[in-house]
Amino acid sequence: MNTLNKKQWKYINEGNVHIVLQILDTCKVIRLIKDEQRNVDITTYINSIEFVNILMLPLVCKGHAYKEEILCLSNHEITELTTTLLQIRPKHRIHKMSISQFALSAPNLTILEPTITNYCVEIKTKEGFLAKTLEEYSRCYYCMKQFLKLCDKQIDKISKYCPLNLYSGDRKRMKVALVNLVENPQNNFKMFKNSEIIYSENSSIEFEQIISTTILNSTNVFFDLIINILLSDGESDIVLNETTGVIPETSHKCNKKQDLPPNSFLYNLVEIQSLSNNLNIDYTAIDDINISDLIKKVKDKNYNLRNSIDRKEFINSVDPLHLALISAVAKDCSVMITFTEQNCEGYPIIQFGDKKMSYRIVVTDLEPKTVKSIIKRKDTEKKLQQLIKKQNNNAANADCS
Ligand SMILES: [Zn+2]
Repeated sequence: MNTLNKKQWKYINEGNVHIVLQILDTCKVIRLIKDEQRNVDITTYINSIEFVNILMLPLVCKGHAYKEEILCLSNHEITELTTTLLQIRPKHRIHKMSISQFALSAPNLTILEPTITNYCVEIKTKEGFLAKTLEEYSRCYYCMKQFLKLCDKQIDKISKYCPLNLYSGDRKRMKVALVNLVENPQNNFKMFKNSEIIYSENSSIEFEQIISTTILNSTNVFFDLIINILLSDGESDIVLNETTGVIPETSHKCNKKQDLPPNSFLYNLVEIQSLSNNLNIDYTAIDDINISDLIKKVKDKNYNLRNSIDRKEFINSVDPLHLALISAVAKDCSVMITFTEQNCEGYPIIQFGDKKMSYRIVVTDLEPKTVKSIIKRKDTEKKLQQLIKKQNNNAANADCS
């Protein structure tokens, strides 16, 4: 096990669970784990990393492979990191101060080749299908939850992004989804240039202006690029042709019509997300999910979950609670699409006019969730159903009351 060993680092970004640091002069990042409870057993972290490496990554990301590793930080390093980070971290995040002695080492997914210009788009695509439990309301979970977030004052403005558009396979609808994401990114859309965030919810600069400085010239071409990559298998070369722009609709409906190419990245991701759709689990007596059993199953049977026969056999043999866990993680992951303005060895090519670029599509944020967070989703669903019923009964005067 390695320590940070006085390596030079730079703060990149953070979410609810991790703080991501770039290790300078390398293609690695360290993901510090925000930790309320100190002295968590190392087995928990080993299970978590194995869950990512041998289960989730092969399931949701059949193409490009990478692995995470565990690092152990010394007490001195933890104190130093916490103090230094306090000056850098965004204010709304520092209520979670302590970090775990264990951290994760992973490839820097925002970079393909450190010696040239790299762009990366991080999208939290969210749940890409209309859950059975929400069918009668004809609204997807994300769009329903936006309304709840507005009522709880977690957001100022409802996002017009609908995951069902992004996952539709219809290029026009996918473009509408991306336009809406860029317009109101919340925490679901970020763009990086050489690991630095150049566009996020906090940006004051127009997205068009950022794209105009890249080889792509226009946001329309940028959206075509992202759509092509999402519809690819992540391994094949792409020829990029500009399609017409879209005018986002003013009225908003969640449209469950979906027609994705069966070998595409999105098809595969939504297939894993949908594993929860036919489950009916009584959570009242469950207080924990045994991840070791799930990992043991993959190891004992020597499953390679990139292989479709092994996947099928594995999924058919997994118990409902574990399926619910795998699905919940897939619904909340981040998709990282990285591209360069020149082609670099080892990655598929995007042909754009007479230019050749390279790309990679991978997934991160795949750590296991607790049973508590899965139950919370069920509770939120109930809350949303009540809200919608209230709203429908009072259609002329829909508000948060
Ligand atoms: Zn929706």
